[in-house]
Amino acid sequence: MTSSKRVVETTPQISISSVKEYVSHRHPIIQLNLTSSHGRQTPYLVNTARTECYFGGSRPWFKCILCNKRVGVLYLNEDGNHLFCRECSNLRYRSQAVGGSNRMLMRYFDADERAEAVFEGSQKVKIWHKGNPTRRFKKFLKYRQQAERLSRLFTN
Ligand SMILES: [Zn+2]
Repeated sequence: MTSSKRVVETTPQISISSVKEYVSHRHPIIQLNLTSSHGRQTPYLVNTARTECYFGGSRPWFKCILCNKRVGVLYLNEDGNHLFCRECSNLRYRSQAVGGSNRMLMRYFDADERAEAVFEGSQKVKIWHKGNPTRRFKKFLKYRQQAERLSRLFTN
C-alpha cells in the first residue's frame, strides 16, 4: 500500500477536541499514547497552540511537527509512530461517490480551520476600512459561511 492511496476516512486520527482540556498557553506540549497494532503503547509528544477566537473565547490546535501549521486533526502515519497533518500525511478524501457525511464533516473542519487562520499572525485585526469590510474580513466571512453551511448538514 502506497501512501498516496490512503484516505482520510480510514486513517487512524486524533481530533484536538478529544484532548482540548489539556491544551494551555503555559504547557503547549502534551503527551499522547500511540498504541501499536500489537497493543504496545508509546508516549508521543505533540505541540499545541491556543488562539483567541475572533468572536471571543479561545480555540485549541495541534501543530504539525513537519509543517508547523495549526490543524484540528492529526493522522497516524503508516508505521504507526508519528502523527502528521492531512497535507503532510498526503491523505486524500475518498472519491465523490462514497463516504458522504464523513467527507462533508472533514470539509467542514477544513473550512473552519481556514476561517480561523485568516487572521493568524496579525497583531491588530482590522475588519473595516472606510466603511467597507476589509479583504481579510471578507475572506474570513466566506470560510465562516462555508463552515456554517456544512455544519447545518450535521445538526438537522
Ligand atoms: Zn503538516
